[in-house]
Amino acid sequence: LRTKAMLSRRLFTPIRTASSSIRAWQVDEWGGDLRLESNYAQPVLTGPNQVLAASVNPIDTYQIKGYGNELLSTWKMVTDRSFNPVSRLPYTPGRDCAGVVEAIGPGVNRFKVGDKVMGVTQPPATRGTLADLVVLEADATVGTPAKSTFEEAASLPYVACTVWNAFLVARLNKDNARNNRILIHGGSGGVGTMAVQLLRAWGARKVVVTCSSDSFDTMRSLGAEPVDYRSPTATDELIAAGPYEVILSCVDSPLSQWSDKIMGIWRNCVHISIVSPMLADTDRYGLPMGLASTAAKYFARSWESSLQGRWFSYAYFLPNLDCLQEVATLVEQGQIKPMVEKVYPFEAVPEAFEKVGQKHGRGKTVIKME
Ligand code: NDP
Repeated sequence: LRTKAMLSRRLFTPIRTASSSIRAWQVDEWGGDLRLESNYAQPVLTGPNQVLAASVNPIDTYQIKGYGNELLSTWKMVTDRSFNPVSRLPYTPGRDCAGVVEAIGPGVNRFKVGDKVMGVTQPPATRGTLADLVVLEADATVGTPAKSTFEEAASLPYVACTVWNAFLVARLNKDNARNNRILIHGGSGGVGTMAVQLLRAWGARKVVVTCSSDSFDTMRSLGAEPVDYRSPTATDELIAAGPYEVILSCVDSPLSQWSDKIMGIWRNCVHISIVSPMLADTDRYGLPMGLASTAAKYFARSWESSLQGRWFSYAYFLPNLDCLQEVATLVEQGQIKPMVEKVYPFEAVPEAFEKVGQKHGRGKTVIKME
């Protein structure tokens, strides 16, 4: 097991693991080629682990081109308590991973050396998981589900936390899911397949997804009613299957925007989109004007619906320990199946990025460290 992660809860005297050489994929300039650095600086440990596999998310493929740099650099300035601009280069991508604890610090009491864990990196401006050694925060890390492989476990944390936070914004949870009919646009991807399964595990009244027809069997096997978004009858089919109390958009499409109309009126129905313009806007216009531009787009997108009591909101990934614990339990109980579409070896990270960047995912793409 070559890849290691380190857990931290609070700062303390730096700990270094016994590892001598560490590899990491990185870019040296935004938009530059991914390069395997074999003398990666060993991260300082604020509590320790060892990790085995990492997943690739579409956002990784944009972030190596500088996507979100304006906002994330500002975040880094704040967390580094710096008044000067802070460079995030060289940058190692990757948001989630799974592996084995190598060592732990005094602030960590939920894990011991040798435990199998999965988690997400935080804060978001931090170094990524596509490296031999990864620092994880204990409050964004849980034990892997029993019987799951590391590849399966690594596919879960980022999409699970994204879905969880979107449902928090929608005020949708396991106590009220049975009263809700939910439409998911982009149901066949990494986020969509997690959303469908979480809702089914919570006993949601109905889950309808839009996807390509080749995903129909998979979507039905997960408990969702699929509608082909390319079909000329898609709107009729969505109307017939509705109305919906909650819509989750994992794609921003004309059909997803149209579907506001098939939510109930003045019944606290809500459309959540995880495809937000915020990072692109702040990159393009700078922080203040970028945030203003996103606010203007939000207003343009939502005002008409809000006149009829249909709400719209963007939602974002946020690390969430409750989510990770519940998803690990649901996987153990067989209620959520890790949807690993393809596993690439560590050496093939650029090929994995090429695939994920096309955004036709059928579940998750995972990198296996040997
Ligand atoms: P994937 O690439 O895994 O999945 C996208 C899915 O959408 C594919 O299955 C694709 O299949 C399908 N699709 C494409 N076009 C449409 C359409 N018009 N209608 C319905 N389905 C469509 O991506 P993820 O699930 O990982 O992520 C989805 C999006 O959410 C990405 O844009 C990502 O950046 C964003 N995201 C945002 C987060 C946040 O914090 N706000 C966090 C995580 C993700 P096909 O094209 O073959 O039909």
